[in-house]
Amino acid sequence: QGGNALQRVRDDSFTLGQLWSAIADDRIVNHYQPQYDFTTGRTVAVEALVRVVDEDGQLLFPDRFIVEAEQSGMIVPLGRTVIRQACRDLAGWRRQGLTLDRVAINLSAHQLKVDSLLVSYIEKMLDVHGLDFSDLEFELTERQALDHDGPGIDTLNTLAAQGARLALDDFGIGYSSVHYLSALDIRTVKLDRSMVSRLPEDRTTMGVTRQLLAMAEELDLEVVAEGVESEGALRLLAGAGSEEAQGYFLSKPVPPKE
Ligand code: C2E
Ligand code: MG
Ligand code: MG
Repeated sequence: QGGNALQRVRDDSFTLGQLWSAIADDRIVNHYQPQYDFTTGRTVAVEALVRVVDEDGQLLFPDRFIVEAEQSGMIVPLGRTVIRQACRDLAGWRRQGLTLDRVAINLSAHQLKVDSLLVSYIEKMLDVHGLDFSDLEFELTERQALDHDGPGIDTLNTLAAQGARLALDDFGIGYSSVHYLSALDIRTVKLDRSMVSRLPEDRTTMGVTRQLLAMAEELDLEVVAEGVESEGALRLLAGAGSEEAQGYFLSKPVPPKE
């Protein structure tokens, strides 16, 4: 299962009881980070990033609770809450006249494996808010592998067949990307922020990034650069053929109202 930092449970990570009460007390909130399109110069999408508000009103980030949620199965109600809020918020923004093509939602491999009714839940939420599958993009991280032909792959392929977009998150640092690219109808790859943060200074990272962008073009994949923190990185990525960018230089993740 790999020794990735995200895979380890932190000393101060949530207990099952804390997760339960956060969900029961409605203290799960989505923040959203804009994705800018280089060609049109506008925000085309936002990514939903889940937070827990603790009992003192303080905001807690996913590194405190996602691994625990996955290991306990609480990722099912947590993940569904994220989807429900994302649909509600997108519909709300559109009623206010905002033109957003879609909202991106992170799905973990565990969630895909254990939530066998995920597709019908999503369908119901879309129905409630008058949205369509094409309004959603699902980001799959490489953190845990999905079995070939397993239920997770089936779920993702069903979502894609219904019109949702699939994105491969944290692209460029893992090892199983090629497997996903052939097993799934991936439209977008998200260049990992650990690479992007080393641009444009680090020559090796520059070279690897250019090659990844060339490969993406060859495979007809859109590239979203994430973790763009400087104008230098932004310019370089635009020039090298990345279609979209996301990062603190453009905007931090913000509450739905912002
Ligand atoms: P991710 O999907 O790769 O999301 C990008 C992370 O990078 C977010 O951290 C975001 O706040 C951060 N980020 C964005 N721009 C910059 C930047 O310019 N510089 C730096 N240093 N960081 C930046 P966050 O919100 O803490 O989320 C961490 C991870 O937790 C996410 O990585 C994703 O894998 C997971 N996650 C978040 N929300 C959900 C969810 O609803 N479901 C699941 N299963 N996982 C989620
Ligand atoms: Mg993501
Ligand atoms: Mg990422």
